[in-house]
Amino acid sequence: MVRMKFKRALRFIFIGVSVLVVLAGGFCLWLPSRYVVPIMMYHHVAETGPLKLDTVSPQRFEWHMAYLKKHRFNVLRLDALVQAIREGRYLPPRSVVITFDDGYEDNYTHVFPVLKKYSFPATIFVSSDLMDMPGYLTIAQMREMMAHGMDIGSHTRTHVYLPELTEQEQIEEIQGSKKRLEEILGVPVKYFAYPGGGFTERIKELVRGAGYDGACTTNRGYDRLNRDVFELKRVRFSNKDNRRDYLWMKMTGFYNLFREMKDPHALSRGTVIRGAMERQRRNGPNE
Ligand SMILES: [Zn+2]
Repeated sequence: MVRMKFKRALRFIFIGVSVLVVLAGGFCLWLPSRYVVPIMMYHHVAETGPLKLDTVSPQRFEWHMAYLKKHRFNVLRLDALVQAIREGRYLPPRSVVITFDDGYEDNYTHVFPVLKKYSFPATIFVSSDLMDMPGYLTIAQMREMMAHGMDIGSHTRTHVYLPELTEQEQIEEIQGSKKRLEEILGVPVKYFAYPGGGFTERIKELVRGAGYDGACTTNRGYDRLNRDVFELKRVRFSNKDNRRDYLWMKMTGFYNLFREMKDPHALSRGTVIRGAMERQRRNGPNE
């Protein structure tokens, strides 16, 4: 009797372990297919009193870059990532892309020396009407950075929230900025970033139609796996990313799996961004 019970227990254990092994095996096969190369997103890198959400101190930024170097990350150009996605090519873990939005002058003073030191490429998305304005990158600075492997992308002409505009205005922002940047910089401007991450399917069409090869959003949109190169999700880095485990988590390539999906064109967002833009025009940056 006791022996019978023992045998039955053994059989249950055997079945249980087998199920676990199959599930674990399936998970291990499934997980790599969810890997997404993280696209890091920064804005200001500066000391500006109490640090805002979009500002990282120069020391912290240097620490982030040192982390990438120490852990042997392969820092790719955005173009290399987009080509790989288009061709369905697998990129190994520890690949990463670095991007900056808005084209603040501190990207030259605080970011450029660090990127040069580590030989990391990056893309800076600039709004073409803001170039050479106080607090923003000058054309000469952009040229110098490009000579050292930085790419310049478009972030519209006036940093406006695109879903709020008429289609004609959207076209002017999307095409106009590309044309102006290309005239000034003398190279094709292949990538675009939606201000505030705001886009619609029609705006994506307009960006594609204008001749861009791809576009970045923020954490907006519903494509967790970055299969659509006109809707590339990025990972925001802030001054709060001051611990090794935060960096590790954001850089694993599986961060998107656990993020809340955000509406790509929530209209209330526009007023905030436009308001910020107006304040910036009146008061200069960092206000
Ligand atoms: Zn922006």
